Amino acid sequence: MTTTIDRSKPVCVTGASGYIASWIVKYLLQDGLTVHATVRNASNEKSVAHLKQAAQNTAGTLKLFSADLLEAGSFKAAIEGCELVIHTASPFLISGFKDAHEALVKPAVQGTENVLRSCNDVPSVKRVVLTSSVASVFGDNIELKYSKNGMFSEQDWNTTSSVTHQPYSFSKVAAERKAWEMHKQQQQWDLVTINPALVMGPSLTKQTQSTSISIMRDLGSGKQATGVPALEFGLVDVRDVARAHIQAGFNPEAAGRYIVSEGSYSLLQMANMLKADFPKYPLPKHQLPKALIWLVGPIAAGITRRFVQLNIGYPVRFDQSRSREMLQLHYRPMQQTLHEHFQQMIDDGLLKNRQ
Ligand code: NAP
Repeated sequence: MTTTIDRSKPVCVTGASGYIASWIVKYLLQDGLTVHATVRNASNEKSVAHLKQAAQNTAGTLKLFSADLLEAGSFKAAIEGCELVIHTASPFLISGFKDAHEALVKPAVQGTENVLRSCNDVPSVKRVVLTSSVASVFGDNIELKYSKNGMFSEQDWNTTSSVTHQPYSFSKVAAERKAWEMHKQQQQWDLVTINPALVMGPSLTKQTQSTSISIMRDLGSGKQATGVPALEFGLVDVRDVARAHIQAGFNPEAAGRYIVSEGSYSLLQMANMLKADFPKYPLPKHQLPKALIWLVGPIAAGITRRFVQLNIGYPVRFDQSRSREMLQLHYRPMQQTLHEHFQQMIDDGLLKNRQ
């Protein structure tokens, strides 16, 4: 089945003020499209100023709507008239909350349900692109041992996370499963999911709470000057992730899930890529022994011993061939991404200027 989206119709982007979504909105506006951008509070100037700025001098039109993931029907007005809905809104937090169900799982799953119910209610909707995650593909790094061809692919599903172990990952897999379940129950719209690895690269907003930003801040602030765990992630540039969503929306043949990841790197490799350009910053120089992290991690870093056991010291690899072939992604090299991200954080005052 193919789906053709009329580019003269508005595109709805949920969670539009977020780190990833802001780039999606910017590119859509640059492409001359009308964007129905949902934010929690459209009259909060701080959260929308960068979107208004992105709209300036473009051929596109920005329309702001207020909508909350936990409020049934609140996305409907923004979805009216749209053929394409890009649903990105979902909290990306790995610490700093008391109740993982309330903070993560409920908004992710209930929010997806709310957005998709409104898609069912609005006859113009033809395609939904959902921002899922590689967290929906696997639970802990150790699982790579059991993967086919030594890589995680779109055929894999996270079956090991729960509300008490890797709750963010659990929120993502539960939301994606809910989306596929609701997709199956109707014939009006098709569903494409983008499953990004950890996203890095410059942010258009200082307001985001995205963990992408806190990981970079912790690397550059000196917090990890004594060392980092031997923890590996797939990484991808935020602008490539935004482009992937747009390609997935408009490519008539796009279907199913797409892992987007430039490559896999440890925290120390990330620091090493930054060192040459930012020599005055207290970037970590060593990896800490796993036994030490096992001992102090729960108190010093808020990570559980089970997380340490199943993730530290284990590599991750992703098969991104589908994204290259179907979404025409030419991944930006990670060294450039990290450099631009670090520099943006210095320029925005999120990292001390030591240059
Ligand atoms: P972000 O900047 O924190 O964006 C999250 C967005 O969700 C924000 O716009 C936020 O709105 C919105 N949101 C949260 N709770 C909401 C609620 N109750 N009602 C309405 N909106 C709500 O983080 P991000 O990194 O761009 O994440 C965007 C999406 O990408 C998420 O689905 C995340 O799981 C996924 N993802 C991220 C990464 C990554 O490395 N960054 C990797 C894979 C997948 P407010 O601005 O009002 O808080």
